[in-house]
Amino acid sequence: MDGIVFREWLDTLPVICSHSHHLPDKEHGERGLAGLLNNSYISWCGVPVPQGDDEIEIGAWLGAVGTRSYFLWMEKALMALYGLKEPLSAATWADYDKAILQAHQDTEWHLKLLKERCRYEAAFLDAYWAPGEDNGHPELFKPVFRVNSLFYGYNIMASDHNGGNFQRARGTHITGIKEYTALIRQALAEAKASGCVAFKCALAYDRGMDFKDGDWDRAQKAFGDSPGKGDILAFQNVVMHAICQAAEELGKPLQIHTGLGLMNKSDAMRLQPLISRYPGVTFLLMHGGYPWTADIAGLCHNYPNVWADLCWLPLISTAAAERLLDELIDVCGADRVVWGCDAWTGEESYAARLAFLEVLSRVLCRRADNGLMREEQARRYARMVLFDNAAGLVSRA
Ligand SMILES: [Zn+2]
Repeated sequence: MDGIVFREWLDTLPVICSHSHHLPDKEHGERGLAGLLNNSYISWCGVPVPQGDDEIEIGAWLGAVGTRSYFLWMEKALMALYGLKEPLSAATWADYDKAILQAHQDTEWHLKLLKERCRYEAAFLDAYWAPGEDNGHPELFKPVFRVNSLFYGYNIMASDHNGGNFQRARGTHITGIKEYTALIRQALAEAKASGCVAFKCALAYDRGMDFKDGDWDRAQKAFGDSPGKGDILAFQNVVMHAICQAAEELGKPLQIHTGLGLMNKSDAMRLQPLISRYPGVTFLLMHGGYPWTADIAGLCHNYPNVWADLCWLPLISTAAAERLLDELIDVCGADRVVWGCDAWTGEESYAARLAFLEVLSRVLCRRADNGLMREEQARRYARMVLFDNAAGLVSRA
């Protein structure tokens, strides 16, 4: 199979992005290169992003992040999008900055990046700052309802890692666990009615993914004056089961962040008891469960209600994404794999897309060349992963 021709063909395909945090209109472009980098995963690398063009600072920063996946795909994206010939350095910093600021004078540029350059027909939006919002662009963004705050409604003072609290947000004062789980059911039904295509749980940033069976008596104690850690965990276990039950009843998939996060009990295998208990729920396990990527392949092999959502993974580690995708083709049908950029800006969405298309191209071409896949199967695989599978999720009643 001709790799260059296949890669060019991949570029022409429409995409439905399974996961993004695309910022509201007013947040784009104003702050130029530094603002863009601050709103990217490069800012997660533990070295502060330079805010000016100081040569020594930029040199040290590039020395630290310059070969990381987060950086190199962003650099490729910026060079491609803005026609920049030279890599990012202290000498070219101002050119990058100017190109970004100029392009964003068109206030729709960030949306054009998604629609025209990323070829997004739709993007699932996890607006954790306003769960269920579509940024005022319903034609493009399909909201998902983030459920983290539901795990913190036991006490008005409690908050998830984004500062969310379900009862505070709704202005309710429920102190009984039965009534609380009924409210969860109601809120998720409302989210579905308002157009949410999925529910999204990112609790791996807050606690382990070991959701034991609900201990309702202990869960009730979480509403008391000074609940113990075990009471709060029991409360959250009950909440997770209530969410799964609602997802099953409402026919909506449940996206779950797996891997990284706290790096403590955030491996996807912790979810096996929930997955086997709720065969009617489609569990979209996100990020390849990195670094425990084999968990995702194993769970996909055994459970038809598990999907692999490869969002973010090619940006975290392109090598890991390549290994997992290859393994998934071995153990799971083409109909249970999706991808999303998981980005806040159009530029980083394009970077994530470049990374994923490179992974798709390399894996599918290698398999075709090794006689493990025919060319038409490779093309079908790409179309399903980039578009058809997510389209099926959007149209689920
Ligand atoms: Zn995300």
